[in-house]
Formats: sequence, structure tokens, C-alpha cells
Amino acid sequence: MTTKELLQQYEEYKLKISAYSLAMTTMYFDMQTTAPKKSGIYRNPRLAYLEGELFSLTHAQEYFDLLETLSKAEDADELTRKETAAILKDLNKTRNIPKDVYVAYSELALNSENAWEEAYHANDYSIFEPYLKKVIEGKSKLLTYRDDYGTKSNYDLLLDDYEPGMNSEEYDKFFNLIKEELVPLIHKIVKKGKIDDSFLYKHYPREIQAKVMKELMDYLHFDFESGILRESLHPFTSSFSKYDNRITTKYLEDKLDSSIFSVIHESGHATYNAQVSDELAETYFFDNMSMGMHESQSRTFEIYLGKNRAFWEANYPLLQNAYPEQLGDVTLDQFVDAINASTPSLIRTEADELTYPLHILIRYEIEKALFNGEISVEHLDEVWNSKYEEYLGIRPEDDRTGILQDVHWSDGSFGYFPTYALGSAYAAQFIHAMRKDLDIEDCLRNSRFDLIKDWLKEHIHKYGGSNLPKDQIFIATGEPFDPHYYINHLKEKYTRLYHLDKE
Ligand code: ZN
Repeated sequence: MTTKELLQQYEEYKLKISAYSLAMTTMYFDMQTTAPKKSGIYRNPRLAYLEGELFSLTHAQEYFDLLETLSKAEDADELTRKETAAILKDLNKTRNIPKDVYVAYSELALNSENAWEEAYHANDYSIFEPYLKKVIEGKSKLLTYRDDYGTKSNYDLLLDDYEPGMNSEEYDKFFNLIKEELVPLIHKIVKKGKIDDSFLYKHYPREIQAKVMKELMDYLHFDFESGILRESLHPFTSSFSKYDNRITTKYLEDKLDSSIFSVIHESGHATYNAQVSDELAETYFFDNMSMGMHESQSRTFEIYLGKNRAFWEANYPLLQNAYPEQLGDVTLDQFVDAINASTPSLIRTEADELTYPLHILIRYEIEKALFNGEISVEHLDEVWNSKYEEYLGIRPEDDRTGILQDVHWSDGSFGYFPTYALGSAYAAQFIHAMRKDLDIEDCLRNSRFDLIKDWLKEHIHKYGGSNLPKDQIFIATGEPFDPHYYINHLKEKYTRLYHLDKE
């Protein structure tokens, strides 16, 4: 076949694969936002059927051969060569796994998730413990079928899957810095006492919150012609295409800032995909950004912009008008201090900006030690609790607020957690670079968020996932990744907020 014919065949494959994906993503979004409880009875078998069809399509020998040939075809265009090579690299991770091994692991993961749920409700780690052991063994076995098995440690293979180019050596450096610089800072802040944030916990009616969100999203220049906001149990973003980026939130009537910052966060994710260049919009690179890169954009919105005082100089009047009784007496400074306050807590998903990376550090240290065989799953809850005491000065009293709080390990997602901290660190470096071109506070204060969006598009978003994270960071900032921007940001911000320099 000529390259021209192969390209035609490839285009047909792409259309078919993306049609299945779009149908499934739409069904998942519907399931999590509007579908009635019983809908699964009819939907789930059809959804599973589509999953199977998609798997057969993407694992057909013909498709592999096509990718193989096109990735090396000198007369094919550069983008196609790059795209087919990237898809091939991804598929090679699962390609050689025998079907029975794959099915057995999927079943194990499902049972393990159920055991985790049972353990969570019973508040008893020992129910989950044997499953955790089996999942680690199962996950390690899957790795043996990969082409790159044995080229590095199993944990490094997993780290690289979630954040290409990262390994435990790099993460060690990153987390050691966090440990050395932030633990003492957190201890100092605890001694200083709490900042008053009680007004955030008054009653904030759902309907008013929904109206406020619309206004905030307008401020963020969220494109409602190619995106929507809905409600779900846990906030998330689902990108169907460049022209359809949907976000969700959850309204808590007794916690004002919860939905505000989840909407700003998810808008960051959505904007990333919406601003991918037209050239990449219908390619694999539209949505294959690394976990760390994607989180860097949501954290840029949520933390570095959304918690900035200048952001609220523009938007606090909106809140005061919406909630005159709750916030009438609260000044802008009181509000900004409250949304930035830091207090060590046990639950990762509720942690503030400063203590958050310590939650991740704890999970990273445990995962790494488990995979290196330095510790076992036995009494892992005790290991967990001791680390919380050491780093955050608080000790979980039970497994539910301790080791059982996250679902990630139950289905074998090891190596995922570290990207959460990495995203915030990348974001600090991006903001530093943005400052050279833009007066960020001026943009925020004067409702010119469009200028910030344009900067992100030009330096980051337009590339989609076509660059490795380390290359993307260099392109956007002119420097390799440097975690000091993150550490310095946190140290400066919290020293100022808690007046630690005046001692
Ligand atoms: Zn996120």
C-alpha cells in the first residue's frame, strides 16, 4: 500500500476510535451528572459492549502494523509520524499482556475496590490489607509483559506512566526539599494559632451559589458556547473535544469556598483543552497531557490566581452583594486571609495549599517503600499514622481518616499521587515566567483574565500534550523544572500571612 493509502486507512481508524470514545465519554458524563439511579440496568451492559469494541479496534494487529509503518514513513507528514509513535508507545504498555492475565487483574482490581469500600465503612484496614498485597503483586506481574520491563525499577516504570520523564531520583530531590523547607514552616504556623475563617461556614443557599458561579466563570472568560457547568458527587472535568469541555461542581451550603475553588480549578483544566491549537484538536495530543501538566493548569487558576488578593478585589463585591447577611461585615482582607489560611488536617482532599504537599509526600514514601520491598502491607496503617504525626503533627485516630481515605491504591493506581504535588510546583514556575510578560495583579484587578488566558495559550495550552513535561516547562519558562519556585512561593506567602518575619 502507498503511504497515501495508509494515511487514508489511518484517518478511518481515527474517526472510528474517536466516535466510540465520544459515545462512551458522553455516557459517562451523563451517568455522573443527570442519569437516574436505575438507568445503569440498561446502560451498563451497552457501555461495556462499547468498551470491548474499542479495545478490539485499538488492539487489532492491522492497527499496530499501520501505526508501526506510519511512525517510520518518511513521506508521511511530521505530525502523523509523531502522533503514531506516541500512540504506539502507549499501546505497547498493555499490548503483550495475555488476555487471561489481563482479565484476572481487572477482576482483582474490582474486588479490591469493593474490599476497600467495605473496609472504609467498617473503619478497619485489616479487611483491605490482603487485597492491597495482591494488587501490588498483580500490578508488578503486569509490568513483566512490557518491552521496557527491567530497564528500571518497577516503581520507576509506574512513575513514568503518570508523568513521562519522572523517576524516583527526581521525586526524592523534590520531596526532600518539601520535607526540609515546609515541615518547620508548618510547625511555626501551628504555634501562631488559627486565622478566623468561621464566616465561610455560615449558611450559603445553593441557588445563590449557582448564580455566583456563572458570574465567576464569566470573569474567567469561560466559553459557554463550548462548555457547561453541571453538578456531580465529586467535581471533575470532561473534555469531549476542543469545542466541548464540561466541568462539574458540588455545592456545600455550609462551606462557601468549596464550590468556588472547585469551579475555578476545573475551569483551569477545561481551558487547557479548549485552547489546544486547531492543528492538534483532532489528534492524540489534544488530551494526552501528563497528570502533572494538567494539574499545573488547574492549580494555576485555583491557587496562584484564584487565591490572589487582586482576584478578589475584582470579585469580592459580587460575593458581598450575593450574601449581604453572611459577608456584610467581613472585609476583603479578612476574606482573603481566610481562604488562604493553613491548618494541618487529616484528609488530603480538604488540605490547604501549604500542608497539601505533605499529604502527598507521605503517600509517595509509603508507595516507594512498598515497591522496593522495604516495608510490607502488614500494619501499614501504623506506618501511615506515624508519618502524619511526624510531618503534620497530628495522628489519625482511625483508619477512615487515615490509610483508608483514598481509593487510589485499591485499583492499583500506584505512582499517581506524586503528580498532584508536581502540578502545583510546575504552576509556580509558570507564574514566575508569566510575571516577566504580564502584570498579573493588574490583569486580575481590572477583569482582564483574557490576557492571562492568552499567555497560557501561547506558552502552554496550544501545544496540548505534544511535548514531554520537561520540554514543555522549558518552552514556557526558558529553564528546566526547578522546585525552588514552588518552595519560595509557599515560604514567602505564609511568612507574610502569619507575620512570621516580625518575630
Ligand atoms: Zn485537578
